[in-house]
Amino acid sequence: MEKFLMLGLISAFCCGCNAQTEKKYSTVDTYYEKNKGDSLPSQSTGTYSKGALINGKMMPFHGDNFTYFSETSYLSGRACVHSKVKTSVLATYSKLAKLHPGRIFGLMECSNKKGGKLWPHHTHQNGLSIDFMMPLLQNGKAYYELDDKGPDHYLLTFNDKGQYIKDTTVSIDFNLVAQHILLLDEQARKNGLHVKKVIIKIELKDELYATTFGKKLKAKGIYVVQALTPQINNIHDDHFHIDFDGL
Ligand SMILES: [Zn+2]
Repeated sequence: MEKFLMLGLISAFCCGCNAQTEKKYSTVDTYYEKNKGDSLPSQSTGTYSKGALINGKMMPFHGDNFTYFSETSYLSGRACVHSKVKTSVLATYSKLAKLHPGRIFGLMECSNKKGGKLWPHHTHQNGLSIDFMMPLLQNGKAYYELDDKGPDHYLLTFNDKGQYIKDTTVSIDFNLVAQHILLLDEQARKNGLHVKKVIIKIELKDELYATTFGKKLKAKGIYVVQALTPQINNIHDDHFHIDFDGL
């Protein structure tokens, strides 16, 4: 009897959770269904900084282990990519889910559905650029308290060791960043793409390369940017930017 009561309580509680989650995501999920794009392959034209996207596809707002960082950005249509990029990134998240069960990742701005200028980004114009949130750690555990900042996430500041300046116990998980980039390249190659360029703040490269997967990243020869203007450099501490390209 008690067991049944307990099961009843658990199921009531869980249904509550599901209803809340469904409500939380109902607007973005509806928007995704309307705007995700057709089954035709995408085409990227021009360059990362002066280009367009034909048959662009929208990334889902959320998946088992990832969430897009801003509803405002999402509903403005800024989470679109080339079809091969979408396939590669979703496959990367599936790999990460197996390697790091329970770990949630943050996806940030991509491109407009038809590409073109995506203010204030200099690139992100042809569906081949994506920003990924830096995964964070505190006392060796995943830290998510800064993940709900929305567009202000881009304004978070980390010191040159990758520690959050307002709380230095919070720091970037560089080993996971490097592994994430390696997986993106691995999955991209299955779809005729590769990681052409990684942009992170120059002062953080030492920390990235010092890790186990950072050493593999360096050995694989994936290009991590070597010089940036101060303005571009300073904003690439809370996220890393990836440019994909064909093989
Ligand atoms: Zn970017």
